[in-house]
Amino acid sequence: MEGKVTESYSMGGMYMYLCEDTGSVPWEKVVWSPFGIPRHDFLAWLVVLDRCPTRDRLLSWGLTVNPLCLLCNSENESRDHLFFNCDYTHALWSEIAQRCNLLALHSWNDTLTQLQGLSANRSIRRLTLIAVKATIYWIWNERNSRLHRGIFRDKDSLFLTIDRQIRNRISSLRVSHPTTSSTMMQCWLTIG
Ligand SMILES: [Zn+2]
Repeated sequence: MEGKVTESYSMGGMYMYLCEDTGSVPWEKVVWSPFGIPRHDFLAWLVVLDRCPTRDRLLSWGLTVNPLCLLCNSENESRDHLFFNCDYTHALWSEIAQRCNLLALHSWNDTLTQLQGLSANRSIRRLTLIAVKATIYWIWNERNSRLHRGIFRDKDSLFLTIDRQIRNRISSLRVSHPTTSSTMMQCWLTIG
């Protein structure tokens, strides 16, 4: 109980900080979208601001680290490479984007612009935002898992994890928002 209070306080504080720090910004509705998974939204916010400790940032702080991307081991790691220019993440994102009837782009900035201009109906737009933030979350999780625990998952394994989480999220809306939930699930299960 105590932990929940602390977590709630902390998230509230971060949200206040967000409002003060950025005010209204073009990507705000991408990061904080209805039915989003809070820890995914929070990480997406850090990624949009380029505040995650990717290796290019660690090097810029003067730390001695291997610059290579932990997912492809062939190019240097940066926010823009990791999401979604890396071969590993682009292949994963392509599969996820297809489920949302979206063209998977290689560039982080182009993807962010694309997400701000989604014109699909509201339920599909919400599904797309849940899906892209789940992808960001699990890419970062995979990167950290390789770095800190030496555990490697292939793209298909990570896709199954994301797929399961998205289905669970959609199912959780079945009682409170039956039409939205039904439209989302129909889209997610129909390969574009
Ligand atoms: Zn890479």
